[in-house]
Amino acid sequence: MDEAMYDLTIIGGGPVGLFAAFYAGLQELKTQVVESLPQVGGQLTTLYPEKRILDVAGFSHVTAQELVDRLVAQTSEFPVTIKTETTVTNVSGQLGDFTITTNKDVTHSKAVLVTTGNGAFTPRKLAVDNAEAFEGRNLWYFVPKVAQFKNHDVMIAGGGDAAIDIALMLEPVAHHVYLMHRRDSFRALPHSVTRLNESGVETVTPYLVSGLTANGKQVTVDLKEMKTDNHRTVTVDDLVVNYGFISDHSVFENWDLQFDQNRQQVAVDGSMKTSVDGIYAAGDTASYDGKVALIATGFGEAATAVHAAAFAIDPHHRGPVHSTSVHLPNE
Ligand SMILES: Cc1cc2nc3c(=O)[nH]c(=O)nc-3n(C[C@H](O)[C@H](O)[C@H](O)COP(=O)(O)OP(=O)(O)OC[C@H]3O[C@@H](n4cnc5c(N)ncnc54)[C@H](O)[C@@H]3O)c2cc1C
Repeated sequence: MDEAMYDLTIIGGGPVGLFAAFYAGLQELKTQVVESLPQVGGQLTTLYPEKRILDVAGFSHVTAQELVDRLVAQTSEFPVTIKTETTVTNVSGQLGDFTITTNKDVTHSKAVLVTTGNGAFTPRKLAVDNAEAFEGRNLWYFVPKVAQFKNHDVMIAGGGDAAIDIALMLEPVAHHVYLMHRRDSFRALPHSVTRLNESGVETVTPYLVSGLTANGKQVTVDLKEMKTDNHRTVTVDDLVVNYGFISDHSVFENWDLQFDQNRQQVAVDGSMKTSVDGIYAAGDTASYDGKVALIATGFGEAATAVHAAAFAIDPHHRGPVHSTSVHLPNE
């Protein structure tokens, strides 16, 4: 259990949470970022990694994934703790000592910055009765380690860019890769489909997963052909389901601390403070008159919130206003 006391806990590792973490590093705040997904980046990584973003200051063209990679590199200039696959389930306490409860640990924090965007993303699960029994054994919703699939027979279920990317990523290490989709064509970028067609991945369309049966260490996947009653089975070591994500709008409902909120939108003042002393919000989740939900505005809000949090923790705090006057830890 991580019993540490942090100066600042940032809930949500989207672009705004990541930039806030860098900014907190500049202010020499001991900081943790808690992110429910296995990877940081929020909507950019989850919903549109390959799309081009044109309106981030200083970058005329940057893909969403590239921007996230740059934010991670920038954040790593400072010793920030980033916890992935960790969801904050409750926040209680007060300025100076908040208790942060997650699905994995309980920590303490002097101040909190909420950058939860549209809520905690969770993968859309396979709608088959006994699916849960196979999770973590034969059924996966993420591919954290490619090596885990070495020499395995793997079926990917899904028809978008992410499903194709997973299939192409696993093909060189797996024994055989199937890509199963309920339509005959894939809803993906043309260059992804071209790469798929040139690869050794076997496409299985138009089918839907209708059942799973244990078969020794493997799983037999029952597939129903769309619009017919025809079935076929494929036995594999792993089934990786990529049916997209849903964002959980109940994120604040069970917290002991309640603040001025409307669904995922949290009301803030000019310093990004919520109605609770010591809790700040920035990015898509922060709401005020004239709010424009953009990455650029979120970055500015993050800097404002971190300054305010540092001052709330210690009214004598005199952190640098300009990054040009800062020496990095490894300089
Ligand atoms: C298709 C698309 C295109 C877009 N194009 C642009 C564009 O061109 N320019 C632009 O400026 N903006 C664009 N946007 C909007 C932009 O993506 C958002 O403004 C931005 O992602 C907001 O960042 P954020 O960090 O506030 O929230 P998010 O990106 O939503 O990140 C929030 C993170 O918090 C995590 N989280 C939530 N609850 C918890 C919890 N309880 N515990 C732990 N973690 C939690 C989530 O898993 C998520 O990773 C686009 C959005 C979409 C969908």
